[in-house]
Order: sequence, then C-alpha cells, then structure tokens
Amino acid sequence: MSKAHRGAGVRELPKSGRGECPVCKRTGVKTLYEIEANSKKVKICKICKASIANGKLKEQVAAL
Ligand SMILES: [Zn+2]
Repeated sequence: MSKAHRGAGVRELPKSGRGECPVCKRTGVKTLYEIEANSKKVKICKICKASIANGKLKEQVAAL
C-alpha cells in the first residue's frame, strides 16, 4: 500500500479524490486524509493534515 495518495490509485476515485476540504474550504484539492472529528471520519487535504499534526487547526476540526 505505497502511494496511497498519488498515481493510479487516486485516479480511480471519484474526481480523482478531489473536492472541497472541510477544514480550509479550498476546492479542487485532494481530500485523501481521513481524520476523526467529533467521533466521525472526515476527509481533509494534505496541508490541513500536516497542520493538525503540528498542533494547529484544532478549533477548525472541533467545529466540524
Ligand atoms: Zn484543507
């Protein structure tokens, strides 16, 4: 399961895995990263995933 976020595996997803990120509200970004927000799974973009890992965007995630 390498390259879970790029290449042929992503292209098979609807719209190539692209859509609106619920955290940063950007459209056309790949929302391939699943996180837990209020005990439900949401798919977010790479940038937001990294920001959350760095301890940022906690309020935005809690508001989802
Ligand atoms: Zn985002």
